[in-house]
Parts: sequence; structure tokens; C-alpha cells
Amino acid sequence: MANKFVASWRSFGPSSFQGIRHLRGLTAQKWKANTRHTACRYQSSIVDPSLGLTDDQMEFQRVALDFAKNELAPEMQKWDQEETFPVDVLKRLAGLGFGAIYTKEDYGGSGLSRLEASVIFEALSTGCVSTTAYLSIHNMVAWMIDEFGSEELREKYVPTLASMEKFGSYCLTEPGYGSDAASLSTSAKRDGDYYILNGSKAFISGGGDTDVYIVMVRTGQEGPKGISSVIVEKRNTRIEFWQEREKTSCSLGAAQASVEQAAEHTKVRKQFDTPLADNQHIQFKLADMATSLVTSRLIVRQAARALDAKSPEAPTLCSMAKLFATDQCFQVCNDALQLHGGYGYLKDYAVQQYMRDCRVHQILEGKPQHIAYYSRQSLSLSLNKRWRYATAPRS
Ligand SMILES: Cc1cc2nc3c(=O)[nH]c(=O)nc-3n(C[C@H](O)[C@H](O)[C@H](O)COP(=O)(O)OP(=O)(O)OC[C@H]3O[C@@H](n4cnc5c(N)ncnc54)[C@H](O)[C@@H]3O)c2cc1C
Repeated sequence: MANKFVASWRSFGPSSFQGIRHLRGLTAQKWKANTRHTACRYQSSIVDPSLGLTDDQMEFQRVALDFAKNELAPEMQKWDQEETFPVDVLKRLAGLGFGAIYTKEDYGGSGLSRLEASVIFEALSTGCVSTTAYLSIHNMVAWMIDEFGSEELREKYVPTLASMEKFGSYCLTEPGYGSDAASLSTSAKRDGDYYILNGSKAFISGGGDTDVYIVMVRTGQEGPKGISSVIVEKRNTRIEFWQEREKTSCSLGAAQASVEQAAEHTKVRKQFDTPLADNQHIQFKLADMATSLVTSRLIVRQAARALDAKSPEAPTLCSMAKLFATDQCFQVCNDALQLHGGYGYLKDYAVQQYMRDCRVHQILEGKPQHIAYYSRQSLSLSLNKRWRYATAPRS
């Protein structure tokens, strides 16, 4: 029964390996020809992740779904068991333009929006959540250098990160400072033309297998204002790695695949001479799961749109999306496992892996700080505003 869910995917056309930029500006006619199978797959389905997307966005999604189905899903169980960092597959993803999705085009980025990146990460996650989660971190590293680095740094690092000739990691967490990352203690002291870095980082995705590390270090006062980012290359430094061992859009992909598999399983599995899906309780449960999935997608895409628009509400919306979608999607995956009964617990069934991979998204990047952020900064502001409206003298 390995990768049983693969069988539940309908075939929807040959895999496309053109770069994503080539996909921009497809005529509507060509797009329809390319995507008719995808449309068939989700015909009249409320959980259709392409609802509300433009033609171009649906095409990016199709390419990512094809890749998830053909290249990721068949391997995800093996990679999990063997703790594989799938270098070749990641490089093929870069060939599609997924190495630097929302990074500017002049140094090889794909120049897409955050919304489009979210759609792509969600689609890829239906094939393998943890590989896609790493890819999302790599994309963040490329974007950080492109957005905040000097021209020299952009020219040096962005092309090789976009092609995934080099892999990136983001190093914030320390053994003693997780949620309280603003207190980090890794130091960077200037010594002539160099900085000498001293300290330990923990839980770094890809750490040991990657080449370019964005390391958050203390160069100044206590608290967040005394922290700088330094690019460290593995090849010319003395870094010790021990115990080798990822986000919100990825949670959506895991939940999507889980809903589909639970719906399929409960149609096929009979108990008391009747398919599980004929029980009203099961139907209510599936409806709850679909509702959680769709509402999570709405808030994640709303947050991505706010980022694209550089809206001042973006940080708050992103925090809310993280808080809401990671909890809801984990619950969806957990419910899908429950609907599989004992089979859901077996490694042969992909639902357990979606649930495990989704669980960590509730931990990553912390939770209390999100709640604190939006409640302190935004909610109180808007409540104050409402309070002012409510208490404003009526004319
Ligand atoms: C698979 C995986 C991949 C990761 N990848 C990366 C990476 O690539 N780069 C990176 O920098 N980090 C990475 N991390 C680290 C991750 O961001 C941290 O684990 C996370 O920030 C939580 O920190 P912590 O584990 O130290 O937990 P702690 O900070 O010790 O928190 C423990 C618990 O206490 C709660 N808590 C903490 N403070 C408070 C408070 N004030 N009030 C109430 N509750 C509180 C937390 O919500 C949590 O439930 C990764 C972690 C994992 C598991």
C-alpha cells in the first residue's frame, strides 16, 4: 500500500520542466489545453486549491502538482525513513524556477509574488511536506540576500541559490534561545577585515548539507536591535555540525492531501456492511475538515496578498495565518489519520507522515510571539479605533 494516495491522483498531463518564467503569458487557450486534467480532478470541488487563481497562477500550480505527483510523492516515505536530503530533486525543482520564486529576476530569481509562492509551496507539499518546507527556507535565504544584501552580495549569491547549485540555511535558533530568539547570544566581533563568530545554533533545516548560512548574530546592544545577519559559507569556515537531523503553505498541502485521502479511504473501507462514508458522523467530520482547509487557505492567501501589496497589515496577517492555519491543518491531518483507523498509524499510509510533518509547523518560528505581536500591535490599535468610533459623540 506504499504511497496509496498516489493512485488516488488522477493523471493530469505530462510533467512540464520548462522554467516558470516561460509559463508567464500563456494564452488562455493554451492554458486550458494544459490544465484540463487538473480541472477534471477537482471538478466542482469546494476544496479545489485553484479556486480564485488567475490563469498563470493555475499553470504554476499545475506544474508544481505534476512535480509533487511524479517526483516527490513516490519518494517521500523513503526519504523520511532514510533521512535523505534529496539534492538532485531539489536541483530539478530549481530547474522549474522554484529555487528563488519571489526573488527579483535580474540575478536569476523567478520574480513571482508571495501569493504565487504560497500556491506553489502548497502544491509541492501534497507530494512531500518536509522537502517543500526546506525549499521554502532556501527561498527565504535567497530573498533575504536579494532584498537586503549589497549589489556585490546579490551578484555573488543569488544566481547560485536560484539554480540551487548552492543550498541555503537560515540560522536563528540557539540551544538556549528558541521562542526568545531576540536574546540570542552568538557573537560576531570585528577583527580587522573579518568578523569572528562564536556560538551554537540548533534545529537548522538542511544544516550540514547546505552551503550558504544566514546566521543571526549579536553585534550590538541586547534585544532585537543588536542583532545582525552574516552570510557564512561552509567551505571556508570552521563549523562543527553535530546530530543532523519545515511552513504555513506546506501545512495547506499536507491538509489537502489528507482530506483527499480520508475521503477516498472512507468510500472504500466498509464496516458493519457499509462504507464508512455512509455514516453521518463521518460526513460531518469530512465537512469540518474541508471547512478548516478552505478557511486556512483563505487566510494564508490573504496574508500573501498583503505581503505582495507591502501592506502595513502584512506582519499581523502573517502572524494570524501562521497561528490559525498551522493549528487547523494539523487538526485536519490528525482527523484524516483517525478516519483511517489503525491503518492510519501504519507507515504504509501517507496520512501519518502528513500529520507528523504538519505537527512541526505549530512549533517552528514560535507561537507566543505571534499572539503577542498581533494582539499588542494591531488588535489593540483597531479595537481602540473601534472604541473611538463607538464612543465618538453622535451629531
Ligand atoms: C524540524 C524543525 C526545523 C527547524 N528549522 C529551523 C531553521 O531552519 N532555522 C532556525 O533558526 N530554527 C529552526 N527551528 C527551530 C524552531 O524555530 C524553534 O524550535 C521554535 O522557535 C521554538 O523554540 P524552542 O524549540 O526552543 O522551544 P521553546 O522556546 O523552549 O518553547 C517551548 C514551548 O513553550 C512555549 N513558550 C515559550 N515561551 C513562552 C511564553 N513566554 N509564554 C507561553 N509559552 C511559551 C512555546 O510555544 C513552546 O510550546 C526548527 C525546529 C524544528 C523542530
